[in-house]
Amino acid sequence: MKTESHKFRTDELILWQKQYGRNNLPWQNSHDPYCRWLAEIMLQQTQVKTVIPYFEKFMQLFPTVKDLADAEEDEVMAAWSGLGYYSRARNLHACAKIVIAKFDGRFPLTLNELMELPGIGKSTAGAILSAVTNKPAPMLDGNVKRVFSRFFAVNEEYGTVSFEKLLWRLAEKNLPESDGRAFSQGLMDLGAMVCSQKDPLCTMCPVSEECLAFKNNQVLQYPVKKKGKEKPTRIIYWKVFIKDNCVWLEKRNGKGVWKGLWSFPESETKPSDAFVEKTIYHEFSHYKLQARLAMMEPEEKNETGEGGWFSVSDLKSIGLPTPVKKVIFEELFL
Ligand code: SF4
Repeated sequence: MKTESHKFRTDELILWQKQYGRNNLPWQNSHDPYCRWLAEIMLQQTQVKTVIPYFEKFMQLFPTVKDLADAEEDEVMAAWSGLGYYSRARNLHACAKIVIAKFDGRFPLTLNELMELPGIGKSTAGAILSAVTNKPAPMLDGNVKRVFSRFFAVNEEYGTVSFEKLLWRLAEKNLPESDGRAFSQGLMDLGAMVCSQKDPLCTMCPVSEECLAFKNNQVLQYPVKKKGKEKPTRIIYWKVFIKDNCVWLEKRNGKGVWKGLWSFPESETKPSDAFVEKTIYHEFSHYKLQARLAMMEPEEKNETGEGGWFSVSDLKSIGLPTPVKKVIFEELFL
């Protein structure tokens, strides 16, 4: 099959990356594993421009893996607040503690050992390894998947098991001999800067001569979309209690989203006599959330459990999910 036997233009990509790629990102100043690990975790499903201020904040607050391991969970969640996909922050904290306890503060530098740490999958392990050691290692983030889907004209539907397996085979078979750092960065840069989803700049692309989708004039047909179902919608009520310019929030524990962050008390049914002020819409990868704001009388609040009254200045020290933060700062006028 042409897809499997086709060869990626690794040398052209490396040359292009060195000349035109992104080489001044804050985490590229150093090849220190802590710094590169932090950046790679933040970059999972998140754009570079969003990550930069968070990366700088974390390096200021927690300059070493030991500082991060010693921090309180609320400090880490507060610093991460707004970056989304909060399991990354919990895993980050857990991973720092393991690196201190098990590896004496030094990140292990093999793919298998890295992949045993919380929050590090195969792609992140490859990205860290190539960034730190300069050895070529396979990696596949969303941008790289798009580049490979097009370059190799992958006809499997995006996101299916067969798609993932085929892409990993291609990623492993098409590594350069050396220059792993420029190669991995080049793949990410090409996806972000040239081979964009809707408007790829193929005439400026360093690998266009051999790109099967481009040669066949089928660029926008790749990646092949999965025929998906509509996401289900979940409706909940957020009970909003306000007293003396403070809002009542509870720490989310157990299973479910936003574990470790602070949010409004929640119920599946409308609290009796509550006035529903408005509905907040938020989309997760697997479902859509409609949170209805139920304005409650403060004296009805039974002050038990892990909760408390927070003023605007108190809110700086706790982690808040983005929609909760928006409600507090844009709707409640504390
Ligand atoms: S030629 Fe176009 S479609 Fe192919 S990899 Fe380059 S930018 Fe992407």
